[in-house]
Amino acid sequence: MSKSFEVFTHVALAIDPIHVGTGGARLGRVDNTIVRDPVTCVPKIPGSSLAGVYRAYTAMEKNKYPGCAGLGQRRSDGTVGHCGSPDCSVCTVFGFARGASGGFAGLASFCDAHVLLFPVPTRKGPFWVTSPIALRSARETENIVQNQDLDGITLYCEKEDRALNLGWLMLPVKRYEKWQPLEKALEALNVPGYIRQRVGVLSDTLFGHVVNSNLEVRTSVAIDPETGAAEEQALFTYEALPRGTVLVWEVTCRNPAHFKVGGEEISAVKTPEDVHNRVQLAHPYLEHLGVGGMGTRGMGRLRVLYSGPAKPWEPTPDGGEPRNERKS
Ligand SMILES: [Zn+2]
Repeated sequence: MSKSFEVFTHVALAIDPIHVGTGGARLGRVDNTIVRDPVTCVPKIPGSSLAGVYRAYTAMEKNKYPGCAGLGQRRSDGTVGHCGSPDCSVCTVFGFARGASGGFAGLASFCDAHVLLFPVPTRKGPFWVTSPIALRSARETENIVQNQDLDGITLYCEKEDRALNLGWLMLPVKRYEKWQPLEKALEALNVPGYIRQRVGVLSDTLFGHVVNSNLEVRTSVAIDPETGAAEEQALFTYEALPRGTVLVWEVTCRNPAHFKVGGEEISAVKTPEDVHNRVQLAHPYLEHLGVGGMGTRGMGRLRVLYSGPAKPWEPTPDGGEPRNERKS
């Protein structure tokens, strides 16, 4: 029996500030509600927003049925947008809302995108901070660092050093024993060297505080679409993850062979890898068109650094090097 699903890890670098609005389907629209993880209070991109953006971009890439890109609402002529055909790579991968069965959830499901590494200005240049919870967002890094290894008021780096400021906060710097396995795991995820060399680990509590006090806050003005002039009392501020933030999300790709659409076998994709290949078509668009709102204000572009099968990190008996070299 073939496997029923495969999980793929995605790691991306923000090349613009990322405004994490509540509605990813509303590309380019003003929406200053930021989405936060309820536990860590760290901003995230909801999986539903990611799914909407991926759907729109993959449909741009190869669009056999033009109605399949959007939300699939009923159009003015009474037809429904999504075709719902077993040979449509958009509807089978991202789902559709039509038919006697009430639709299909889609073969790809998107987890929320979480902050893996967050850039903070210091007197020694930017440092990228992370924490046990942040590292748990990727299977490749989830077991390396535990909260009990960390005290609540220290920045853990490659080497012991003098105290360092993270924004306004001054912290003692201690050498972290597991820094090397962490650096290797980040290397396997294609995190660039200039970031890996400047990673610091914080406790979860401190990480939340540092992220929230170093978000980018911008002020902007809403433009009246009728007149093209600034709307009265339309000045608003919004928060964004800064450029240089490293985000991680998982996409679960189900096996098309285990599903039927409208009573027929799915022909658009055949394996979980096929599903992931369709999903990956969106990545060049993520880099050029971005996610979230404010696309017209030079925000939201993400460069995907890594997109491959999730491989949990496991320590070796002799001290923490990753056990398996990555295949492929
Ligand atoms: Zn379709």
